[in-house]
Amino acid sequence: MSETWDKRTTAVHGGTRRSQYGEVSEAIFLTQGFVYDSAEAAEARFLEAGDDEFIYARYGNPTVRMFEERIAALEGAEDAFATASGMAAVSGALTAMLRAGDHVVASRALFGSCLYILDEILTRYGVEVSFVDGTDLDQWRDALRADTKAVFFESVSNPTLEVIDLRAVCELAHGVGATVIVDNVFATPVFSDAIKQGADVVVYSATKHIDGQGRTLGGVILGTREFIRKTVEPYMKHTGGSMSPFTAWVMLKGLETLSLRVNAQADAAWALADALQGHDALRRVLYPGHASHPQHALSKAQMRKGGTVVALDLKGGQAAAFRFLDALKIARISNNLGDAKSIVTHPATTTHQRLPDDQKARLGITPGLIRFSLGLEDPQDLIADVQQALRAAG
Ligand SMILES: *Cc1c(COP(=O)(O)O)cnc(C)c1O
Repeated sequence: MSETWDKRTTAVHGGTRRSQYGEVSEAIFLTQGFVYDSAEAAEARFLEAGDDEFIYARYGNPTVRMFEERIAALEGAEDAFATASGMAAVSGALTAMLRAGDHVVASRALFGSCLYILDEILTRYGVEVSFVDGTDLDQWRDALRADTKAVFFESVSNPTLEVIDLRAVCELAHGVGATVIVDNVFATPVFSDAIKQGADVVVYSATKHIDGQGRTLGGVILGTREFIRKTVEPYMKHTGGSMSPFTAWVMLKGLETLSLRVNAQADAAWALADALQGHDALRRVLYPGHASHPQHALSKAQMRKGGTVVALDLKGGQAAAFRFLDALKIARISNNLGDAKSIVTHPATTTHQRLPDDQKARLGITPGLIRFSLGLEDPQDLIADVQQALRAAG
């Protein structure tokens, strides 16, 4: 592995470990445990396991290690810990480092389960959490305190695609000595250099673009070697949220094509957003990579492309949004994103159904809002399908 490699090269070769057979494709070490040559060897490994020595798959496994090393190299992080899902990564990163009495500041526009962890679980264990409008730097400045231990936000928010000024929030947080944890799913490791821009810890739901073909759940926590091995690993290996070797193999193969996929998906997202500008049936078309997005300049300054998701707001509210979803012939109604298949979601009645109406309004989750995750289909086919469905929605 070389530090001068581009992300595309790293995503194909980073972290590769070959067995004595010299296999080309990564081996799946589908084993829970590992045998020792002697009782003395077992004792020595429990005392300190070397780089290529494993004890139990909940602690680590060669296939999982390949995935961790490959994505760490891709992200520009010193180390990584792979988890059973994106939520295991979010909850693991936070819980591993926090204790009762600590203070956390988080942006309010969050994936539902992330909000649940911050608002319901951490507070139950005596952690105080303050929520801010993530796009308002004054609110971050006001909420941060000398005893703030962690800051948490999604770099591009779900589903309204607000972009958070990563460099600025990191600078403010570091001013009070807080650790910045960024959920970087919408930005992807291909378009973002969150660690270089100041994030201390980056988490991904690998379920999304890293698998990218809708098969397995997974996640990863990235950070300094010290944070990953001294703080995250002891917590994760004892609480049981580790990634399975089979999943790690799927994710390794996903990383090989990640750059090609998300670049194609982002180009399709831009083309869709561009084709729908000023459409009669739409109140808003939101895509961070398009010049029409209110934070386009910030998006360009911190991401190579605007991601793979477009948000559409239909003037006709929920009734029109439902007619639109039902009329689509290519994009499928589901609640995932980053898949090879285009996926459409109506957040107000599904992923964000339980939020009170005033919260929905505050977050811009209007009755007409649709989240459109661009897949790998032909962009012109997708645009034509969206246009016919908008006509059908009246
Ligand atoms: C999907 C998602 C998660 C959770 O990931 P899972 O793999 O479903 O557990 C967390 N954060 C964001 C922003 C997501 O989109």
